[in-house]
Amino acid sequence: MNAAIRTIKYLILIASLMLGLRVPPSAQAMPDSFLLPEIKTDHPAMSNVDILIDVGHGGIDGGTSHGNLLEKDINLAVAKKTYDQLRQSGYTVLINRMDDYALSGENKWLHTRSRHIKDLAQRAHLANEVSAKAVISIHVNSAKRPAKRGAIMLHQQNERSQTLANALQQSMNAMYEIENEPVLGKTYYLLKHIKSPAVIVEMGFITNGEDRELMRSEEGQQKLAAAIAAGTEAYLKDVPPSSEESEPPRSGS
Ligand SMILES: [Zn+2]
Repeated sequence: MNAAIRTIKYLILIASLMLGLRVPPSAQAMPDSFLLPEIKTDHPAMSNVDILIDVGHGGIDGGTSHGNLLEKDINLAVAKKTYDQLRQSGYTVLINRMDDYALSGENKWLHTRSRHIKDLAQRAHLANEVSAKAVISIHVNSAKRPAKRGAIMLHQQNERSQTLANALQQSMNAMYEIENEPVLGKTYYLLKHIKSPAVIVEMGFITNGEDRELMRSEEGQQKLAAAIAAGTEAYLKDVPPSSEESEPPRSGS
């Protein structure tokens, strides 16, 4: 499949999301307990997505920072490179932003004053609509202690997310030449609300000089993308096409 067709499919998806996800104002509710409306629309073009790349932050939401170095920019740069690498390996990949904007602006269906919740809900929605075999959410870490470094994977409380996190952690550790452990991301909105195996990839610490240089440089970003792509591929190769799910993902195509 060529790039143009994929781009078109993605645009179709966005368009159908915008049309399909409007819910009445009564959906207003407390953060975290509001409804993620059930979508019953058919998206045959989207039934075989291997990987959804969630690019953390964007627009007004810069994420963490160090001087004029912003997390949102690092996330986008590495995510695009990861996207390219995975596609070159023949996977069907979606990325939820290709530029610097806030996903909360695309969320016309959830009525809440919290821009942050709107943003996260939009990401979770897209992920559940696409139903990818793996969702990787790209982020940058920060810590009080500047010595803290390396990548840390946050996973859901299920085996497949854990397996994905382990594969990614192993790949990132090898690149960094350190031994960090994946962590259960119990309180993370995205991990709680995405049904596919999802992992938050905290690529490195912006508070650590070495990590910062890696994440800032073109060459370092390429290395990070290669490690993320390799970890994701290792997971996908190990997961049988029709797993324990009641509905095999390929049945609709
Ligand atoms: Zn972040």
